[in-house]
Amino acid sequence: SRDYLFKVLVIGNGHVGKTSLVHRYVNEKFNKNYKITVGVDFALKVLAWSDTETVRLQLWDIAGQERFTSMTRIYYKEASGCIIMFDVTDACSFRNVRSWKEDLDSKATLPGGNPLPCILLANKCDLSPWDVPLSSIEQFSKVNGFIGWMDTSVKDNKNISESINFLVERMMTV
Ligand code: GDP
Repeated sequence: SRDYLFKVLVIGNGHVGKTSLVHRYVNEKFNKNYKITVGVDFALKVLAWSDTETVRLQLWDIAGQERFTSMTRIYYKEASGCIIMFDVTDACSFRNVRSWKEDLDSKATLPGGNPLPCILLANKCDLSPWDVPLSSIEQFSKVNGFIGWMDTSVKDNKNISESINFLVERMMTV
């Protein structure tokens, strides 16, 4: 049997749904006090991946991280993968995805130097109208080195475990 431990960063503009995502996905072993201490939400989810494989996912929400700049190094240290989230009704949050990705790639790489596997989540897809065209997201995801993108709704629980499982599959094969 094999045991995997992956540290996954959850980044993106404020108010796009990062904290909601972590709370939705992880409903055990969540320590709220940690956030107060170091300025990141850190949560653990254990997945029985197969008969012989267990996956432990550490999800690190960047919440408030910009106010704790001394924590940046710890935040990015030994990360295995990343979720970058934006809000489909907030074009500004989409425009900022590029700088979030550049920031990520400048601060964290895999041991061999390759970029971390990173998935793009177009959140709040339950809302309308969208402020970001679907074709732009598709194109942007391809050009900027994402492993893929999915429309998600943390509110409706749409594509949450699906998107995280997709990222886990990639992290298991790098
Ligand atoms: P964060 O700042 O990125 O951590 O964003 P939050 O998780 O605090 O979410 C910001 C707001 O968006 C909250 O009021 C959430 O309830 C709301 N929200 C999060 N995800 C969704 C979603 O998928 N659909 C809708 N309609 N609202 C959402």
